[in-house]
Amino acid sequence: MFESLSDRLGAIFEGLRGRGALEEKDVNEALREVRIALLEADVALPVAKEFIGKVKERAIGAEVLRSVTPGQQVVKIVHDALVEMLGGSDKTDLDFATTPPAVIMMVGLQGSGKTTSTAKIALRLQKREKKKVLMASLDTRRPAAQEQLAILGEQAEVKTLPIIAGQNPRDIAKRALEAGRLGGFDVVMLDTAGRLSIDEQLMAEIADIHAASDPIETLLVVDALTGQDAVSTAEKFKARVPVSGVVMTRIDGDARGGAALSMRAVTGAPIKFVGVGEKIDALDTFEPERMAGRILGMGDIVSLVEKASLEIDEAKAKKAAKKMAKGEFDMDDLADQFRQMRKMGGMGAILGMMPGMGKMKKMVDQAGGLDDKEILHQEAIISSMTKAERKKPALLNASRKKRIAKGSGTSVQQVNKLIKAHRQMSDMMKKLGKGGMKGMAKQLAG
Ligand code: GDP
Repeated sequence: MFESLSDRLGAIFEGLRGRGALEEKDVNEALREVRIALLEADVALPVAKEFIGKVKERAIGAEVLRSVTPGQQVVKIVHDALVEMLGGSDKTDLDFATTPPAVIMMVGLQGSGKTTSTAKIALRLQKREKKKVLMASLDTRRPAAQEQLAILGEQAEVKTLPIIAGQNPRDIAKRALEAGRLGGFDVVMLDTAGRLSIDEQLMAEIADIHAASDPIETLLVVDALTGQDAVSTAEKFKARVPVSGVVMTRIDGDARGGAALSMRAVTGAPIKFVGVGEKIDALDTFEPERMAGRILGMGDIVSLVEKASLEIDEAKAKKAAKKMAKGEFDMDDLADQFRQMRKMGGMGAILGMMPGMGKMKKMVDQAGGLDDKEILHQEAIISSMTKAERKKPALLNASRKKRIAKGSGTSVQQVNKLIKAHRQMSDMMKKLGKGGMKGMAKQLAG
């Protein structure tokens, strides 16, 4: 989800990064691109404008922190503004501070995913929050709508109100509340009827049921794939019923993400849940922080800095990989590896991040780990070697080792240890060159 917007924004900030100082001209240029990216993602124009204005105001004249580049600072400002636009610290969990049963009313257009979302939320409440949930379909217009909910209820193992043919929506709602009370249910979910488009009759019916059932939550279900239409649908519903939150479905198919970005800004209603697939458990709570990170496609500033420094090393790494594949891995390469390790937070951290490397991490840990200080020692040993020795470690005889130990402030033992580590690593690299990562993982697992 959100790939295209995140790609665009990623490219824009790539341009900003790495500059010494950030000028107004740069900010303006980058923000022009951001605006285009937002509009292309189907974000409403006034929302995009407001967003850009906010970022600009904060970016120009902002104090640039010592530890980050100005470009990163702007990324952070954009990120924070995105979080705000997506709802900031809105409380997205449902509020049950009421005498049970608490009523959750689901509203939305036909085909938005309302019935599916009803069952998804019911399942979630029952499973995660241990609530006893009863679902009832008030949709007497669409043939088989009530049966559809009953079937979903069976799948999710959530109780549904028995169907009585011919009853009107208001009476079904009353019966559901009564059954909820008598049956000791914590939550009663009312799945109201949808329409293909908003009409007066639908709105009147929904307002009527709302008044009769006094829900703690009125959740509007909208289809993310309809983009700006989802936002205008939400506006219209909100004008008639007090919508407390939005469930945005089909986020799994929404590459542009504009609807999610505009929703909160335009309607004021927080997105509480997102539907991420057809399956009954394909529902996530909506987290603005996570979503903003995803839209920017860059995670937080810390990982951004890491990424930036890794990119510089990428060319080097490629060259090294080529050499390794040929079985050439000298002391200079080893020194490079050490430098990389230090940047990435030590050997343990790297191995922990790589799939299939769990066993190797254990090995390193058992050997006492490799901390930063030790890595620095190793680097010092290598830099005390002559160029010829680094290229051809076999040259290292007793007197050379002694000289190196003295030069690096270490002992001959430590020099020996490094030579051994180099040999082991170079063997491993050879295997890696032959079998690739999978080959090595297999070997370590075996
Ligand atoms: P209703 O008319 O609003 O009650 O819509 P339904 O609940 O019947 O859903 C219509 C279709 O959308 C069904 O085929 C659902 O499986 C599908 N659907 C619902 N939510 C999602 C979602 O989050 N992702 C995807 N991919 N499909 C969904």
